[in-house]
Amino acid sequence: MAIYQNILLAVDLHPVCDEITVQRAVQLARENNAKLTIIHAIEHINAYGVAQAYPTVIDLEEQMVTEAKEQLRKLAEKHGIPADRQVVDVGSPKAVILNRAQEMKADLIVVGSHGRHGVGLLLGSTANAVLHHAQCDVLAVWLKDKGAHPL
Ligand code: AMP
Repeated sequence: MAIYQNILLAVDLHPVCDEITVQRAVQLARENNAKLTIIHAIEHINAYGVAQAYPTVIDLEEQMVTEAKEQLRKLAEKHGIPADRQVVDVGSPKAVILNRAQEMKADLIVVGSHGRHGVGLLLGSTANAVLHHAQCDVLAVWLKDKGAHPL
């Protein structure tokens, strides 16, 4: 029986963690015949006022977005996720993931239990925040003991 129709998968572009979480999300989407959207958030580096003093900050942020889009495209294509379901947004990962989930009426968010930031914790800070504030089911794919370490 199909439970989910609209799945949002959050990836932090960590090669090992992403491979495990993407495989799980793709399998769930297939089994549920659900739409799968993949998202990555680029943290804002343009703190208030800084861009006026250092315009190169904006260039740097744009460059990070361009590079992230390319990395996400490669990852998504490898797993058959089409271009119109690949999203890169600028902002805190927690806010970006939760906003997009609401916008697209996701019924499941898939995150890794920890990524680049949270390897020492039971749940990383992004995973924890998403779990606490999401208005739909959240699957935290268990990554400890699976060779997933911060870069
Ligand atoms: P963390 O809580 O930062 O250790 O990361 C746990 C999980 O949150 C990762 O495996 C991703 O699923 C998600 N995540 C963390 N950072 C980002 C990001 N910048 N963009 C999208 N998802 C993220």
